[in-house]
Amino acid sequence: MSVGVAILGSTGSIGCSALQVLARQRDRFRVTALTAHSNVELLERQAAEWKPAYVGIVNGGKGETGRGEGTACLVEAATRPDVQIVVNGIVGAAGLEATLAALEAGKRVALANKETLVMAGELVTRAARRGGGEIVPVDSEHSAVLQCITGRRPTELARLILTASGGPFRTWTPERVADATVDEALRHPTWKMGKKITVDSATLVNKALEVIEAHFLFGLPYEAVEVVVHPQSVVHAFVEFVDGSVLAQVGFPTMELPILYALTHPDRVPDAGARRFDPVAAGTLTFEPVHPHLYPAYGLGRAAAAMGGTAPTAFNAANEVAVELFLEGRIRFGRIAEAVARVLEGHRPTDATSLEAVLAADADARRLARDAACS
Ligand code: NAD
Ligand code: MG
Repeated sequence: MSVGVAILGSTGSIGCSALQVLARQRDRFRVTALTAHSNVELLERQAAEWKPAYVGIVNGGKGETGRGEGTACLVEAATRPDVQIVVNGIVGAAGLEATLAALEAGKRVALANKETLVMAGELVTRAARRGGGEIVPVDSEHSAVLQCITGRRPTELARLILTASGGPFRTWTPERVADATVDEALRHPTWKMGKKITVDSATLVNKALEVIEAHFLFGLPYEAVEVVVHPQSVVHAFVEFVDGSVLAQVGFPTMELPILYALTHPDRVPDAGARRFDPVAAGTLTFEPVHPHLYPAYGLGRAAAAMGGTAPTAFNAANEVAVELFLEGRIRFGRIAEAVARVLEGHRPTDATSLEAVLAADADARRLARDAACS
């Protein structure tokens, strides 16, 4: 019996990579549901190829049988009885409800949508415990950690070191970075991804989100989650154990491997399409500390993490708004971190243990961020 997979955000970068992987694993998995935001044309093509029982479009649907529209289609797709694994490749807070519903319904969630773990880490982990669902990371750094710790006891784990490429501005001066254009910010040196995460990689907000994501996934305190800049993106993470031994997971940058692993964990299956690793071709691997003056938003994310409660929620929401304004050409690059800083200064964190508290903090931060960015 093949395993039913729902792909939320099938038209995005993660969604398309997931379908590439699944095309080579048709004997193990079948695609039973696909959803997208508004790219009807690509979604129709994917539906014609995969013939899923359910197709959902948030914006632009036709409402035929087996087709959902509006935001409700995400939860519908994620909780269907013919779905065992939900690949959540949605960008931003819009993915939260479907993740919670899937976990409550006992599904495995292969989670790329890191923003939702940051905005509501307590709620997401609680939903998994309550419903018997399982969160398996798709993010390459967290997949690397999971691959290194599988089979080990949590008490044997001492420290994580996540790697960051450093983005396109690693060698720039902070003054020049502040005025970087959209085109410059979208020129990522090692990964081809959606626009939002590509900007987050340039500000290093992506790595701050990943530190918070690691805390909720692996239960480590923030002091035990470090970051190092590694421009080649070959080592995805280091894991230090209590005896001082360090394991790392390495490979050429591709999301296909972490996606496949999230589907099969703790097992591994052959993948004929995988690019073989070649240490000689990988060349010299270098590591540098994070320079705080070059990435002010990264420090803000770590500060929000240390504050706890709804502070990460506010950090994420403020960043989502600021990045959107930047991508629309309405604010300069340097303004992203400034707006996030203003929101965090004004935020009074509360417990993040109810959906109401999280959604209120998210909405407040969005409003404040718009004011702060545009004033
Ligand atoms: P993308 O912009 O290419 O795709 C986003 C997808 O989300 C699209 O399919 C879109 O239809 C859907 N979507 C957007 N807004 C939506 C909404 N309001 N309701 C429903 N669906 C909506 O982005 P991506 O690069 O694929 O990234 C997706 C997620 O995966 C992000 O959270 C990102 O941080 C994470 N991630 C991506 C990569 C990567 O290599 N691309 C790596 C690690 C993590
Ligand atoms: Mg990552």
